[in-house]
Amino acid sequence: MDSSYSVPVNKTLNGTPASRGIAFGRITFLHRECEPSVRHTVEDTTQECERFEKARKTAIAQLGSLYETSLEKLGEQNAFVFQIHQLMLDDPDYVSQINDTIVTQRVNAEYAVDFIANKFAAMFRAMDNEYMQGRASDVIDVSRRLNDILLYEKGALKRPKIHKIDGQPVILATDDLAPSETVQLDQDAVSGIITSHGSTRSHTVIFARTMGLPAVITIGDELNEDLEGKFVIVDGAQGIVILEPDKNTIALYSEKKRIEDALREKLEQYRGRETYTRSGRKIHLYANAASLSDLDLVKASDAEGIGLFRSEYIYLSSDDYPTEDYQYDIYRQALSLMDGKRVIIRTLDIGADKTADYFMLKKEENPAMGMRAVRICLTQPEIFKTQLRALYRASVHGRLAIMFPMINSVEEVKSCLKICHEVEAELISKGIAFDKNIEKGIMVETPAAAIISDEIAPLVDFFSIGTNDLTQFTLAVDRQNASLGRFLNPYHHAVMRLIENTVINAHKAGIWVGICGELASDEHFTHELIRIGIDEISVVPSNILMLRARIATLG
Ligand code: PEP
Ligand code: MG
Repeated sequence: MDSSYSVPVNKTLNGTPASRGIAFGRITFLHRECEPSVRHTVEDTTQECERFEKARKTAIAQLGSLYETSLEKLGEQNAFVFQIHQLMLDDPDYVSQINDTIVTQRVNAEYAVDFIANKFAAMFRAMDNEYMQGRASDVIDVSRRLNDILLYEKGALKRPKIHKIDGQPVILATDDLAPSETVQLDQDAVSGIITSHGSTRSHTVIFARTMGLPAVITIGDELNEDLEGKFVIVDGAQGIVILEPDKNTIALYSEKKRIEDALREKLEQYRGRETYTRSGRKIHLYANAASLSDLDLVKASDAEGIGLFRSEYIYLSSDDYPTEDYQYDIYRQALSLMDGKRVIIRTLDIGADKTADYFMLKKEENPAMGMRAVRICLTQPEIFKTQLRALYRASVHGRLAIMFPMINSVEEVKSCLKICHEVEAELISKGIAFDKNIEKGIMVETPAAAIISDEIAPLVDFFSIGTNDLTQFTLAVDRQNASLGRFLNPYHHAVMRLIENTVINAHKAGIWVGICGELASDEHFTHELIRIGIDEISVVPSNILMLRARIATLG
């Protein structure tokens, strides 16, 4: 048979899409010039702890310089990860565990650093929260820096140099790339990244996105050194690596790359701008955040604020009720990091699928309609007051707005506001400062709230429509039940009418209204949101620029 008639089959490696974009090049594995930190016994553990301490100080200083370099390359919102790395090196738990290992096991500092780094990384990887999983690469990065300093006893981190092949940039392959390695990559020599491990929430991935480097991660063992030098196409959006593609595939992907590059360039023009419709109406385009650790993503996204900070994750990640001081510290950091931009913190929305044992909630037949969110707060006001005191105290550090979830009635709103006033009075009597103009609003996420939004609007400063719950309760379809997916229709006319009713009533009362459910991210629905007069849209950080560009073409 004539071979020109055979259909070439491209072998692909499958991974997780991490940074969109298409890259061509030959695979080059990263070979780190780092000696393994061999364990050996030390006589003088005090001296060894001093060696570690000296290396720690050097590492903190290096990170200070890296921060400065990254400011220019990646902007403040991204560079601040190196300040987080500095904080990790100051973390009492991390530092004391390394010192303890040196002393109790009588081992060298390099071994102790490696041992504790792996322990912390394993702990992060085992966490449920995808963001915390991403912290594993940070702790490894910081520890590797320490070990390079210890091993070579000099101030510079050794960086393997990546070279072009035949004058063309390469695809860098490795087990996992550290954030500091990513930021220092020579983009003339590297056009894409592929890794066998990693996490989409790591700083490495955030940096790759900001630098416009396509990346596919978690490819697993199929990514091995036998592939060194092979020509590939990396499709960062699909999460695939095409091995030795045929001519047609190369042509197809060249065209795809041209279109994607043009789109990316277009979206980047919207960075640093505010969001306006074509006719000049201002829309507040905010990001949703699940925890403090999401803030680097939020900042990198160029969001104009946080439209939904799901504070319940503080409770879910604790073994007992988080104290006022613990919460204060988190809210303070969130507000400071957002530099005066509005941060809407939702009070605890525990219950239904989000439970913590120490709440000792009774087992319920229908937990989604059970003891949850504001119902817990009004039944156990001390829990609520602890959170509110923390929020009020933190309010002096930025622009705080407080939002109550699962509101159904005027009485519930009044009760929440009464408790807020009690907290204010208590803080005033103790001479504790707080912002007197904190906005207070509610989530409109039950049909009841939407229907009586005319009665509630005069009591609050804003509404935020939670279409996830609003859809489940309007349609009586459990959002947790995967087999009901096709019935859970947020575009159902009943949901739409409730949304419109809410917007009309908000505006009649002179308050602003936002939307923070998943529906807000649908760019094909944005025109409807603009048409009905939504003032604020809060979405996952990765959608900010795309929606800003979309809104500029509407209304
Ligand atoms: C919602 O219900 O739409 C919402 C944003 O809140 P959550 O998804 O956290 O319940
Ligand atoms: Mg909800």
